[in-house]
Amino acid sequence: MIASKSAEFVNQVVGAIREVVGPGPVALHEPSFDGNEWLYLKECLDSNYVSSVGKFVEQFELLLASYTGAKYAISVVNGTAALQIALKLAGVNSGEEVLLPALTFVATANAVSYLGAIPHFVESEESTLGIDVVKLREYLSGNTEEQSGLCTNKSTKRVIRALVPMHTFGHPSDLEQLLSIARDFNLVLVEDAAESLGSFYQGQHTGTFGLLGTLSFNGNKTITTGGGGAILTNDEALARRAKHLTTTAKIAHKWEFDHDEIGYNYRMPNINAALGCAQMEKLPGKISSKRELFKRYEKEFKLISGASIFEEPSNCQSNYWLQTLLLEDDNLDLRDYVLEASNKEGIMTRPAWKLMSNLSPYRNSPAMSLEGANSLYRRAINLPSSPVLSLGAR
Ligand SMILES: *Cc1c(COP(=O)(O)O)cnc(C)c1O
Repeated sequence: MIASKSAEFVNQVVGAIREVVGPGPVALHEPSFDGNEWLYLKECLDSNYVSSVGKFVEQFELLLASYTGAKYAISVVNGTAALQIALKLAGVNSGEEVLLPALTFVATANAVSYLGAIPHFVESEESTLGIDVVKLREYLSGNTEEQSGLCTNKSTKRVIRALVPMHTFGHPSDLEQLLSIARDFNLVLVEDAAESLGSFYQGQHTGTFGLLGTLSFNGNKTITTGGGGAILTNDEALARRAKHLTTTAKIAHKWEFDHDEIGYNYRMPNINAALGCAQMEKLPGKISSKRELFKRYEKEFKLISGASIFEEPSNCQSNYWLQTLLLEDDNLDLRDYVLEASNKEGIMTRPAWKLMSNLSPYRNSPAMSLEGANSLYRRAINLPSSPVLSLGAR
């Protein structure tokens, strides 16, 4: 049985969400196709250029590069594949470790595993929802040593090759400190920016700070290509290798099939890129709507004590991909009641991901202490976040 005071809190929270989203069933994040999607798709079908060759792929890559400020963008089949290839290009070898937050979507850890490498889970903190840079620095100082210019885990004796921050629900991590940690401990920085297209840290787009960064265009992300992803980099040689590796490592030739290494069939089909081009045209509007939606949630939740809506970190401009309610410690046991009550009403809300260190494939992976990540996991609830909701009751 839930105490009446708690029941009242749950009712208040669900009421506040309802006030923002209006009546009827509401999804967590819906795509919208209100631009040139049909036009560009028709062009693909009419021309027969639906698959791996066609003008939309190059166009989409140019649009991504120009919007993010990355010198190069290479589009691929999905965000997980983008991260796998980015990590490979960053020099991650089988048997090495890669640092990444325990509080992330499973794709971040899986991409590491696909290379035969081992994810090493890192603590998160509340001001960014990303890696706790203070605790990480302290942890690396105590638990690693430099050997021939490489960071080595003192207890497993394995090389720790890379550091992969993830910009949680679209909010930029503390990139300045992360870059400094990467420099001091000889780690390659690769950003999982799957959730943060349209999010800027000190005016620079997320995913462009590391040697490489990756995006996702899955159906629930800020823009979608059905399924899709991209690798961002400023390094021309890496960009060329990314394209080569993701297009079966085929050497260009009029008819001969010659491949100079084991490549991957990871390129984005033209039909998906066509969607991407149309979606990119609408990106600025989607983001201002999502930022507007944050303000509407903020106004409602100011009236409720015991929970608050997460605001972008200072010096950052966030895309507010998924709006996030954080329960205060007193109410953390009420998370599942809020999830239950809202979903029962047709309002789709979701908890944050179970920590990677608690998933059966990763239970034995190395990890630092994760109190902060665990607290966030227990207190966070994602709220309906589609751009269309910024317009108020429909
Ligand atoms: C969406 C997402 C990805 C990539 O997902 P795909 O479905 O493979 O495009 C990777 N990391 C995070 C944190 C994500 O949210």
